[in-house]
Amino acid sequence: MSHTHCAILGCKNTIFNKPIGVSFHACPSNSELRSKWLQMLKKKCTVLDWTRSRICSRHFENKYFDAQRKLKENAIPTLFPVNSSNKVTDVTTPRTKVDRLLNKLTQAELMADIKSSLSKMKEPANLDNYMNDDFKCRSDTPAEAQLWILVKKQDHLNTRLVEQVAQNKKHVDVLQKNMEEDRASKKEMEQSVETYKYIVKCLQEKLATLEEQIEILTTVEAR
Ligand SMILES: [Zn+2]
Repeated sequence: MSHTHCAILGCKNTIFNKPIGVSFHACPSNSELRSKWLQMLKKKCTVLDWTRSRICSRHFENKYFDAQRKLKENAIPTLFPVNSSNKVTDVTTPRTKVDRLLNKLTQAELMADIKSSLSKMKEPANLDNYMNDDFKCRSDTPAEAQLWILVKKQDHLNTRLVEQVAQNKKHVDVLQKNMEEDRASKKEMEQSVETYKYIVKCLQEKLATLEEQIEILTTVEAR
């Protein structure tokens, strides 16, 4: 595993799931540089097998990459997830995508940020005159007004996105509840089937006894 997963605690990057632009790097062979790495990584990894362990590029500052995004020879890993020295916690990835979208750090909040910066600038007068209901600009819209319309459109889309995500989450909840109910009724049915099987077995035994008795009676009568 050590050669396919980033060795840094709390980092989830592997060669299988690596985000675009992320590369993996082996420990330097130069012993002086290696001891520098070791110093940095002392409490950042659970297991370090220097012949196999790889560190992903997320842990190197930009200055350590050349123009081709190749790691420079003097590079040392210095960027680590919060808490990586204590335990494995993934602070960057909330539980599910839905949660992430509903999380406060959504695009909507980002937009609010942009809007609050924009509010310090004056919104162009007659902005509505430049756009139709779909936030499309008229051809003679000045550049500044176009920008404002773009922001308004993005804001509108964000609001709808958040609404839809909330709606979808509700649907998922309903589906999950239905599934649980289905499972419960299936279990109930299985229990009744077991009961019926038992009754049938009892009846079969009883029938066998009756057949035996009939046989005895017939034999007695025949005498
Ligand atoms: Zn990593």
